[in-house]
Amino acid sequence: MSQISVRIASLAESETLAMSQKSNELKAQGVNVINLSVGEPDFFTPDHIKAAAKKAIDDNFSFYSPVPGYLSLRQAICKKLETENGLKYSPDQIVCSNGAKQDVCNAVLSIVNPGDEVIIPAPCWVSYVEMVKLAEGKCVIVRAGIEQNFKMTPAQLEAAITPKTKAIILCSPSNPTGSIYSKAELESLAAVLAKYPQIIIISDEIYEHINYLGKHESIAQFENIRERVVIINGVSKAYAMTGWRLGWMAAPKWIAAACTKLQGQYSSGPSSISQKAAEAAYLGDQQCVEDMRLAFQRRRDLIVKLASEIEGFKVNKPEGAFYLFPQCNYYFGKSYNGREINTSADLAMFLLEEGHVACVGGLAFEAPDCIRFSYATSDENIVEAMRRVKETLSKLK
Ligand code: PMP
Ligand code: GLU
Repeated sequence: MSQISVRIASLAESETLAMSQKSNELKAQGVNVINLSVGEPDFFTPDHIKAAAKKAIDDNFSFYSPVPGYLSLRQAICKKLETENGLKYSPDQIVCSNGAKQDVCNAVLSIVNPGDEVIIPAPCWVSYVEMVKLAEGKCVIVRAGIEQNFKMTPAQLEAAITPKTKAIILCSPSNPTGSIYSKAELESLAAVLAKYPQIIIISDEIYEHINYLGKHESIAQFENIRERVVIINGVSKAYAMTGWRLGWMAAPKWIAAACTKLQGQYSSGPSSISQKAAEAAYLGDQQCVEDMRLAFQRRRDLIVKLASEIEGFKVNKPEGAFYLFPQCNYYFGKSYNGREINTSADLAMFLLEEGHVACVGGLAFEAPDCIRFSYATSDENIVEAMRRVKETLSKLK
């Protein structure tokens, strides 16, 4: 008999990681799968960052770091926030963790009491809902479809707020849609939130540097809500460092202190070597970030063009991140060889097994009519993957 706790038994497995695992298993069996499921840059970590990590090993950065991270790294992050975002923070407002994922979870666990409501605009990243469940909070999902470029309006936000609302989790640029809230749109959301001082705003800005519109805008810039914003960011996406596991938050001092206490009991400070690498990333030449952004933009244009030619796909033009999120419900109710497609998860599995392209069904992102393709891969892979998707979907009648 399984003795697993109710808390963990009720959690869903991360669908992005699960689809990637399935794709790797098929690859290990010799099947030529193109993996557009998990979202991570395909580039190698830039050399000057790797050199800093090697130096950290030689310089014996082998001891526990302070729980929120080395002061030098937190100072480098404060400098980045000031020069890139025009935001002033002090090092005691920064907490570094094992990836931005842990920072979001730290923030949720530090502020949400059982029964508290957390507003999550959807489509949303897979882990938010599960993190709120872990804290025994209640998710209030606000849906925005492709016709509104997947963005929540201020009126939708206001309608979702109740006396029990404790927090909202925003993500711009968005995973999975690539949509970006403009400065004016953020200002209108901030104007609503300013009326409800009990709401903490968790702003996930991990895709800050993968932006095809121009300058990144943070909701923390608005003074009327500034003292309630928790910015989440990290080096995974901007510097191609997903495996190094280094993220951070910039938060009001009381939230930073709570997250430090929490982290001090269950994981301690993140890897000392990764911290020194991240410090080099923030203080070093930023050309690598721009080079990767340009490559992602070229790939965005390519996948939008090819996916738009696929019958039954309704395609948005992502403005940032590296995901395409077409609406695909045209295929629900169709079948091939007795296999019926009723959900986007069915469609993702059909594309994997029949077309050898791995992607993720939209239900995992609270958007069951859509499907997600990560285009953080080579142009050749994108072309071949879209050719396979088109051919495979054409079998469904
Ligand atoms: N937030 C979003 C929206 C993401 O897509 C990711 C990527 N996994 C993360 C947070 C976490 O990033 P990491 O833990 O690798 O820093
Ligand atoms: N953010 C990536 C994704 O959505 C990584 C996987 C994950 O951490 O869930 O695919």
